[in-house]
Amino acid sequence: MTIGFGFIGASDIAKHKMLAAIRNTPDCEVVSVYSSNLERGRAYAAETQIAHAASSLEDLLANPAVNAVYISTTNDLHHAQTLAAAKAGKHVICEKPLAMSLTEAQDMLAACNAAGVILATNHHLRNSAAHHKMRELIAAGAIGKPIAARVFHAVYLRESLQGWRLDKPEAGGGVVLDIVVHDVDTLRFVLQAEPTEVVSLSQHFGMSSSTVEDGSMAVFRFDNGVIAQVHTAFTVPYAGNGFEVHGTEGSLIAKNVMHPAAQPEVLLRTAQGEQMLELAANEVYGVGVARFVAAIQVQGSPAASGDDGLRSLAGALACLESARTGQKVAISV
Ligand code: NDP
Repeated sequence: MTIGFGFIGASDIAKHKMLAAIRNTPDCEVVSVYSSNLERGRAYAAETQIAHAASSLEDLLANPAVNAVYISTTNDLHHAQTLAAAKAGKHVICEKPLAMSLTEAQDMLAACNAAGVILATNHHLRNSAAHHKMRELIAAGAIGKPIAARVFHAVYLRESLQGWRLDKPEAGGGVVLDIVVHDVDTLRFVLQAEPTEVVSLSQHFGMSSSTVEDGSMAVFRFDNGVIAQVHTAFTVPYAGNGFEVHGTEGSLIAKNVMHPAAQPEVLLRTAQGEQMLELAANEVYGVGVARFVAAIQVQGSPAASGDDGLRSLAGALACLESARTGQKVAISV
């Protein structure tokens, strides 16, 4: 059976990453796109060779060729659009952050559960071979007991994306909801542990408006005792990126693993010396689509579920609250 995807949102990420990921997955096609501006939707459909531009969300959801939707609108819209899709019986793969609040995210999980449709969160980073390898090695005890982690994920936001992320808190702008949410997910995945509390400071370094942060440093505590330092920004052009986990018997030191276009490297350092790990090449968005489709076909689970999206959101919202209040904030879902 062909899985027909409807795009909710004529977005950059849908055009540049998810369209190819879906088209490269066997028996999948994007059959319609909905934009809040029909002219823009038509132009987007023509440019991307999507057969149909929907005139409304209802129009897209009424299309029998649409079995699943990919939601990549601004963050404030994910909640209502997921509820509408679930009501129409469509499976949902939704962008991160799943929603603007935990209540909204919980609502989305409940609606999809009640409708019997899959809800997946598009946390692509956990799909990389590097993060899988680190997770496996940590679980196998290769670095002993994990003590601390460090995530370097400061970027320079490209000009074409310097819109709502920088001046629209009501749309879910700011670096914490944009990037920290991915880092919390990746830490949860690699460590197989849950964050319990966070302290953070945020920064307004001139790229964003004063209403949302363009830089953040946070320290999360996990329920296995690990403390993890996370640096994110929209303003830093040359930092590169990395992910380290340090344990009692060794360290895993990964570079270029927080951006899918970069060439990842993972080094294992122990008393036996240093070893650069072999990593299978993989396309992280494609893995996410394949796992979502397998879940629809009752042959597996999504790479990141709705519950994963809820938990990464909880970490990001607590990080924002800590920066706002100057207090350590407990994380719970
Ligand atoms: P965009 O800014 O490209 O798109 C968001 C919305 O803005 C679109 O749905 C569209 O509304 C509107 N829009 C886009 N371009 C234009 C334009 N030229 N003129 C007028 N309106 C426009 O957002 P992103 O693709 O960067 O992000 C979308 C979502 O995806 C967010 O939730 C973000 O967090 C997430 N994301 C996830 C990534 C990942 O790797 N998992 C990476 C990047 C983003 P309409 O549809 O109504 O036309």
